[in-house]
Amino acid sequence: MTVQQSACLRAALQVGYAWLERGSSALLAVEQTIRVLERSGLFNAGKGSKLQLDGMRRMDASIMEGHQLRAGAVASVEGIIHPITAARLVMERTPHVLLVGPSAGRFARHFRLESQRPARKLRRYSLESVLRRYGESHGHGTVGAVALDQTGTVAAGASTGGIEVMLPGRVGDTPIIGCGVYADNETGAVSMTGWGESIIRLAVAKTICEQLEDGKGPATAARRVLHRLVTRINGSAGCLVLTPDRRFAIHHSTSHMMAGWWGGKGEPTVRDRFQ
Ligand code: ASP
Repeated sequence: MTVQQSACLRAALQVGYAWLERGSSALLAVEQTIRVLERSGLFNAGKGSKLQLDGMRRMDASIMEGHQLRAGAVASVEGIIHPITAARLVMERTPHVLLVGPSAGRFARHFRLESQRPARKLRRYSLESVLRRYGESHGHGTVGAVALDQTGTVAAGASTGGIEVMLPGRVGDTPIIGCGVYADNETGAVSMTGWGESIIRLAVAKTICEQLEDGKGPATAARRVLHRLVTRINGSAGCLVLTPDRRFAIHHSTSHMMAGWWGGKGEPTVRDRFQ
């Protein structure tokens, strides 16, 4: 973790907390926290999203709140800085949950979301080279957040530029509700990062919530599900888990994961390892 990244994480935590302190919803706090990270260009989301093999930047994001189980998401969206806001708008301004591709971009432009240059020069790639290189890097730097507000509602969000080696059109776990994020006031809020193909196959965010429902604490729930991810399908992931009664866990099956938390006192805690 660079000094800039750790300063940015602290700033993002403070921004999110300030919204909560003013009585805003967990949903808004999650969105605003993620916007700081998307705007920074320091992570694989928003401005910092990796270019895919054909030279395009395609992003995924989702957001969910635990009171009414409302959710919104965008996938493979191009040309905007804040996919997390596009996801919130899908949730709040449409009857849908997920919009994809150029149509999601048009939707974002309709709401005048800030734009960024969609692509550099288009690059050539071959299907064979993608398949050969797939697995070289399962992606780093997706951003996410969970929050609990004064009404006892939890929310979760995530935003990513995806993984480096992937076919154009590939969508990971981040915009899939129940995989990349889940939030339910009866269990908790979960935000995931990691190898999306493995996270999808175990519907990890929802599965962690089911463990919470069964009475497991957040640390045990996260540890059990990530252990299963590794042992059953050789997957890899990291998660943030927060319950409505303020219990919290950060867990990862990878060697490192940059993350932090803040409850408003002292300085935010930011580390890149939580085992
Ligand atoms: N989960 C993201 C994806 O597979 C990548 C990441 O978390 O870094 O698209």
